[in-house]
Amino acid sequence: MLSYGWGNCDPRNPKNRRSRSSIMVEKGCTSLLIDMSPDLRQQMLDYGGNKVDAAILTHAHYDHINGLNELRPMFWDKKRRLPIYVKKENLPAVKKAFFYLFEESGHEIYSPYIELHAIEDEFTIGDISGICFEQNHGFSKSLGIRIENFAYSTDVVSLSEENFEKLKGVDTWIVDCLSMKQIKATHAHLDLALEWIRRINPRRAFLTHMDISMDYDSLLRILPENIRPAYDQMTISV
Ligand SMILES: [Zn+2]
Ligand SMILES: [Zn+2]
Repeated sequence: MLSYGWGNCDPRNPKNRRSRSSIMVEKGCTSLLIDMSPDLRQQMLDYGGNKVDAAILTHAHYDHINGLNELRPMFWDKKRRLPIYVKKENLPAVKKAFFYLFEESGHEIYSPYIELHAIEDEFTIGDISGICFEQNHGFSKSLGIRIENFAYSTDVVSLSEENFEKLKGVDTWIVDCLSMKQIKATHAHLDLALEWIRRINPRRAFLTHMDISMDYDSLLRILPENIRPAYDQMTISV
């Protein structure tokens, strides 16, 4: 029998199932994946969509990148390499971790199925235009991403004045909130995330990247109505 560390989370509540941060942004004809969690295959099956046009990587940590292997089926259909946008500094880390994905085998069916691009501060990918900005992730950096009035800030422990400026006027914000109490120098905890939300004042905010101290129903009892814990397969219209 397997046991898993559920902490304060009620394991019977499906809303306590949370992937380590992969989101799909859809606009017009474009499906843009942000981050590739290790369980990406299951997430994609549950999501039911079979289209990814491109992906952005917020940073090269295991829990955001290890689903890269699962993107190969996206290539079978289109026979077009999937563009993945990464901060320039992270390109070597991705190439090192997934070196086998970039090797030309000489056989068409085993050719690389992704291509890496350095992301610029302002980007347009298909029908989706946005900006990205560097966030403090403790011992490293992550990318915050804003697409019109929606923003996604995962894996962040402090926001700079410049970050607050980029997030000004955001309507819907998904924000890192690892734990109830501060336990890591790399992620926000509840009080800190709430402080940021008060300052940015979006119409609504969703907490992400939560650990086992963050039980869905318990959080609903203490959070204001416009702040909700995110969960696997949650859909938000903006
Ligand atoms: Zn990280
Ligand atoms: Zn992470």
